[in-house]
Amino acid sequence: MDCVFCKIVSKKIKANVVHETENVVIIKDVNPQAPAHLLAIPKKHYSTILDCKDGALLAELFTAATHAAKSAGIDKSGFRMVVNTNDEGGQTVFHLHMHILGGRPLGGRMG
Ligand code: 5GP
Ligand code: ZN
Repeated sequence: MDCVFCKIVSKKIKANVVHETENVVIIKDVNPQAPAHLLAIPKKHYSTILDCKDGALLAELFTAATHAAKSAGIDKSGFRMVVNTNDEGGQTVFHLHMHILGGRPLGGRMG
């Protein structure tokens, strides 16, 4: 399958991996929108959050993302977790992932 995040998970494409669990990898976003911008990616391919019914995996995704926020030192100042979904949600890579953003005030507008 021609999926950039599957290629990152299988190490066919290089990425800056900051944390890894059994089913999740966390990388630095290549085009950061904040001083800390990480992506929590399930190793298994799901196109969107709508396709994933695996609650244990979603729990692991949140737990790994929280761990990465702490490691990045943005837990006390604050951070945001975002899952863009489909076109109007701003999704551009159709492999489920969660953004973790922090390191600056993120503002009140959600879009
Ligand atoms: P989306 O818009 O789908 O929610 O977010 C996709 C994110 O993936 C974007 O923030 C984009 O910068 C990031 N991205 C796309 N391709 C790559 C890549 O090859 N490596 C890394 N590290 N991030 C990528
Ligand atoms: Zn994929």
